[in-house]
Amino acid sequence: MVVSTYRIQGATGEWEVVIGLEVHAQVTSNAKLFSGASTEFGAEPNTQVSLVDAAMPGMLPVLNEECVRQAVRTGMAINARINAWSRFDRKNYFYADLPQGYQISQLYHPIVGEGAIEVELEGGATKTIGVERIHIEQDAGKLMHDQHPSFSYVDLNRCGVALMEIVSKPDMRSPEEAGAYVRKLRSILRYVGSCDGNMEQGSMRADVNVSVRKPGEAFGTRTETKNVNSVRFIMAAIEYEANRQVDVIEGGGEIVQETRLFDPDKGETRSLRSKEDAHDYRYFPDPDLLPLELSPEFLEECRQSLPELPDAKRRRYEEHLGLSAYNAGVLTAEADTARWFEALLAEAALKEGRPQEEVAKAASNWLISDLFGALNRLGKDIAESPVTPAQGGELLALVADGTLSGTLAKQVFEIMLETGQDPGKIVEERGLKQTSDTGAIEAVIAKVLADNPGQLEQYRGGKEALFGFFVGQTMKAMAGKANPKVVNELLKKALG
Ligand code: ADP
Ligand code: MG
Repeated sequence: MVVSTYRIQGATGEWEVVIGLEVHAQVTSNAKLFSGASTEFGAEPNTQVSLVDAAMPGMLPVLNEECVRQAVRTGMAINARINAWSRFDRKNYFYADLPQGYQISQLYHPIVGEGAIEVELEGGATKTIGVERIHIEQDAGKLMHDQHPSFSYVDLNRCGVALMEIVSKPDMRSPEEAGAYVRKLRSILRYVGSCDGNMEQGSMRADVNVSVRKPGEAFGTRTETKNVNSVRFIMAAIEYEANRQVDVIEGGGEIVQETRLFDPDKGETRSLRSKEDAHDYRYFPDPDLLPLELSPEFLEECRQSLPELPDAKRRRYEEHLGLSAYNAGVLTAEADTARWFEALLAEAALKEGRPQEEVAKAASNWLISDLFGALNRLGKDIAESPVTPAQGGELLALVADGTLSGTLAKQVFEIMLETGQDPGKIVEERGLKQTSDTGAIEAVIAKVLADNPGQLEQYRGGKEALFGFFVGQTMKAMAGKANPKVVNELLKKALG
């Protein structure tokens, strides 16, 4: 398999880009990591702040078991080593959105060790990207600079919310690979249910580490662009930053290890500050928390609770349902789509009285072209589809039993989208049934042949391509309701 290599063409030759991502994913949990305060998005500022989150003296953190479970399940989903013994450390720094004066994190003993994520690239190639670790930590609050002309305000609602930091190895070599990695990671998190993956709301954001080197040489010095919050921006930040670094080096300069910001409006990165090292934070084990020990029963329960994951599902769709690699990939890319498809498949199989393998191909094609097409037009997600899987299954069954032709099915589907009615009812009320009534079709054929003597003569004279013309005329005369198979047969008889 040919994998195209991404290279930057500089004045001194080709450069390779090296990328490592640190993804912060907000853990799906009703309460914060060490307090019972709510994590709900969009609440009034400072309405979801417990005494622990506000760092009142004497308050003690109490670990939320649900957040631990979600991190462990995520680790298992990427085949990572789970550390049954881990520990929390304090990362000390002062900032107005951090009342404790430190963040509780896990530097030395993270809960999840090395794992891997397989990503799909252009043209069906795949690549395995290593994950270094996943640790759990607290989020900080949020400063608001646009509320008052001369003051900054602080909202502590996000303070103490649980994050998973998912650190990749420096295994990516192009913006495309980084984009594919983030999309795949987001898909896995959503399947597992450990993070909603909503990048616009900030539940998932990436620190983008980029360096450049001449192919085959040792890694160069990296910069880290902080808090990039969309796949498109991540790719744009890499593209910009890699080219900038090549220009700097070829201009005789040196890359300094620093933290940068991405400006989406200008499409460029800007220096924010020089990079701190771990020792600047004076990490030390948090004395308020015991080491975290996970029992074999807890680990087993986590494993049992995992759903079928995208890679396994894709393989099953190909091998057991006989779907094409393309269809299987599209249907399993997002958990919501796979859920909808499986509900559709169950309904169609039930209504047609056939096994799922036999209806899967038609169901997958209908979902990908007709339903996705409609949702695209309407600007809706599959979770907001105006048509239910049960209704889709009924529509497929009406096609399978010959009640509807493909053309009629498309008409019925449009009406379903507008009215929300069941397809059976639409067919009944609007008389959209396909007819296989040979008498009626024969009468129409006779009329079509009589009305088009010129074409008839040409056809009889050997111009057989005109067969399609007669089919079209007959279908048109019957308002698309004639069974095309029957029309074909009867026309052959009439003409032959
Ligand atoms: P820190 O915690 O200081 O940011 P880490 O060693 O944890 O440092 O690495 C952070 C990220 O940087 C990882 O995702 C890693 O893959 C990536 N990385 C490390 N070295 C390089 C490099 N030379 N070029 C690009 N990315 C790198
Ligand atoms: Mg970092």
